[in-house]
Amino acid sequence: MELLLTNARWLDPDELTISDTCLRVRPSPIGGPKKELESDQLQDERACLEFLDAPPDPGGRGSDPSKIRIIDCGGRLVTRSFALGHHHLYSTFARGMPAPPRIPANFPEILDLIWWRLDKRLDLPMIEASALATALLCAKRGVTFVIDHHASPFAVAGSLETIAKAFESVGLGHLLCYEMSCRDGEAVKEAGLEETQRYLASGRIGQVGLHASFTVDDDLLARAVALADRYGTGLHMHVAEDVADQNHCLEHHGKRVVQRLADAGALASPHTLLAHCVHLDEAERELVRDSPVYVAQASESNLNNNVGLGRYDDLGPRVILGTDGMHVDMLRALKAAFIAGQSAESLGFQEAYARLRRTHELIRDVGAPGDGVNNLVILDYDSPTPLTPESMLGHFLFGLEAVHVHTVIAQGRIVVEDRSLLSHDETEILAFAREQAQRLWDRLK
Ligand SMILES: [Zn+2]
Repeated sequence: MELLLTNARWLDPDELTISDTCLRVRPSPIGGPKKELESDQLQDERACLEFLDAPPDPGGRGSDPSKIRIIDCGGRLVTRSFALGHHHLYSTFARGMPAPPRIPANFPEILDLIWWRLDKRLDLPMIEASALATALLCAKRGVTFVIDHHASPFAVAGSLETIAKAFESVGLGHLLCYEMSCRDGEAVKEAGLEETQRYLASGRIGQVGLHASFTVDDDLLARAVALADRYGTGLHMHVAEDVADQNHCLEHHGKRVVQRLADAGALASPHTLLAHCVHLDEAERELVRDSPVYVAQASESNLNNNVGLGRYDDLGPRVILGTDGMHVDMLRALKAAFIAGQSAESLGFQEAYARLRRTHELIRDVGAPGDGVNNLVILDYDSPTPLTPESMLGHFLFGLEAVHVHTVIAQGRIVVEDRSLLSHDETEILAFAREQAQRLWDRLK
């Protein structure tokens, strides 16, 4: 069904111009393996949004009222919805989880005592519930596309397809990968390669995930690069999140992390995404800058893990924003990146906002479906100061929040209306999530 958004105050996501208009929104096919989607439909997502001077005459020729749903925006702001650039949906059940056996003293211990303890205990129902809950939380915050980096070492097979189907059942787009590593031995490493291969061979658009240099041996790195090349995609991995990653690389490989990746051909693809890049020296910064890769900033996570704050101003024009599993609120991530960027790099309004929006470019470059122009958010934002193209960056950084998200349209369909999820039963998702969270927590005790 087509949507007609009347009385819309359109905020152009690139120019930040504001115009009163009427929008015609057409649905596009939801996700699925690319080979099952019509290629012309995939190409045509740009045609799914049309600006009209006035609403069409309901009785006029060519209009069928039964095929058009009219939404009166009541003068609310309408703009493109948001994409999350680096996430771990396995962190969904971390809030309130049983405390670790002791307080971690450093970043490697945070992984060992918290995250790896958690992800090793995941099974497929827990993963499905995490994905559904993530999609629900995303949708209600105006986030309609997620780039996820998933780990469940003892439930690897089928994990990516489980997540993809969960996201699609809520109506959201995704770019997934399995976070491969050598930390759990050869069998789990091979299972990660098999899962990645199976997912990409099925026609799904995804990435090839690696945990981080310090958990990836040369064999896995080479095979991951080859797998990404074979399927025309890129890698997605953590890079120098903590100084321990650099120390390990120097000790075991005689070089720094980014140099190791460059030597392995891991920086050649414009579809590759490096998360964090907190501890890079000047030579590494140059390698990243001169490569076509994207870099994901996740400042709240860096502060939470006390690993330091990176600066991103000289890493090239491909820095995007992620949350690293802390939450799914991209308006909050924007504010955090901006505030952290003050001390780290004197980050300006324009570049902070550009990082929020640049994720759309990576998704388009990779060719993943589900992030076209028919992904929209209607914001109930009654500002105490004027909204103008000149003031909009200030509103994004200091005014607009997830609480203002009123209605969300994903791939041309209403998924959230008046703050309620329409595409799925919200109470059912949350009840399933709590049940699975309790199972996970029981395993952690
Ligand atoms: Zn991460």
